[in-house]
Amino acid sequence: MSSFDPTRVVIVGAGVAALEAVLALRDYAKGRVQVSLLAPDNTFTYRPASVGEPFGHARAQNFPLAAVLDGLAVDHVADRLSWVDTDARQVHAEGGARLDYDALLLALGARQHAWTEHALTLHPELMDEQLHGIVQDLEGGWVRSLAFIAPAGAAWPLPLYELALMSASRAYESYADATVTLITPEESPLAMFGQAASDVVGELLDQHRVTVITSSHCAVRRSGTITLHPSGAELQAQRIVTMPELAGPAIPGVPHHGDHGFLRVDRYGRVVGLERVYAAGDSVDFPIKQGGLAAQQADAAAESIAALAGAQIKPRGLVPVLYGALWDGERTLYMRARATGTHGSGSRAGWAPLWEPAGKINARLLSAHLDKIHDRALTSDALPARSPA
Ligand SMILES: Cc1cc2nc3c(=O)[nH]c(=O)nc-3n(C[C@H](O)[C@H](O)[C@H](O)COP(=O)(O)OP(=O)(O)OC[C@H]3O[C@@H](n4cnc5c(N)ncnc54)[C@H](O)[C@@H]3O)c2cc1C
Repeated sequence: MSSFDPTRVVIVGAGVAALEAVLALRDYAKGRVQVSLLAPDNTFTYRPASVGEPFGHARAQNFPLAAVLDGLAVDHVADRLSWVDTDARQVHAEGGARLDYDALLLALGARQHAWTEHALTLHPELMDEQLHGIVQDLEGGWVRSLAFIAPAGAAWPLPLYELALMSASRAYESYADATVTLITPEESPLAMFGQAASDVVGELLDQHRVTVITSSHCAVRRSGTITLHPSGAELQAQRIVTMPELAGPAIPGVPHHGDHGFLRVDRYGRVVGLERVYAAGDSVDFPIKQGGLAAQQADAAAESIAALAGAQIKPRGLVPVLYGALWDGERTLYMRARATGTHGSGSRAGWAPLWEPAGKINARLLSAHLDKIHDRALTSDALPARSPA
């Protein structure tokens, strides 16, 4: 590589972290990098709105990936990563292609797996299909008890709270006599957003008549029966719904941390023990999995890669802040906290947006970029209506 050649950056994935990194590299590296994106996707799905689908609210938004990448000078290789040869600095795709890199950013998200076979484990892409019947049964009075369980391991807890709130509202509006219960290992509702936010979430759940059981891990060993630990108490529910537990990508050639396959990175996004390999998003071993956080991790990694490429930038490193927008079907509660373990600090919550643009995933560059594409597409009706949040 001559000193005038651009730094070859391979980004694996085309989700929140990968796309935020593409935009951040354009900002920070100013033409010093040549980016290839290795991902099988032809669309980017903005997942948060999918929780409203079973209730007849706005649908999850699908953005054509070509529209998201338009004008960003990115080479999209439509394939999946197979393995990484870190000695040769080469990425191997499942279809046989080999991509050379000077810097590699792994942003593959998390793998999902069901932790019990006796509950309905939601799949983000199938939420409407999976929950539509349950919502109808609630409205019709056929289901009298519905339980939502937050998994004990790494997971996405916020959508489960939204589903519990919307289910309870729907039952009430339909004059159906149904109990909705939310069971979580957290010490208080959405504790990661800190005390102030957790208190408001607790009040909101109470107003919607959602029964909340905190500090509990569950086992569901047979259909309809939940065993709570550590109390050992049993709870019956006609329908039990949960989110998948998440695991890391476990990429051949890349060391991962612990049993769950997550990648260990430092605060600059560098994969520990490897040179020129970075990671961001749900695939890293940070205990909280969240789109806003994935974007911040991507920004941190992009700063490091830009510095490697010779840009005049001093990487600041990640100072994680959580932004959450909890939607009950009518209103959005905005929450913000510094991510400090299981209990956030400096917690704030309110019904007015705490960030701009006030989307559910707060990504520094991607949020505004998607808004622009959405506004452009509205004129051609290429995208579905926007969700309230
Ligand atoms: C229903 C739901 C609601 C949510 N609501 C919110 C919310 O309100 N706010 C919020 O901040 N977060 C929310 N989240 C969480 C958020 O969606 C994730 O944290 C975020 O998408 C993680 O970004 P990521 O880029 O790490 O992974 P992803 O967005 O999952 O992207 C992973 C990418 O990697 C690609 N990939 C996977 N394997 C390979 C491979 N072998 N080779 C190449 N590419 C590969 C995938 O195709 C995809 O493009 C929600 C999640 C769900 C499921």
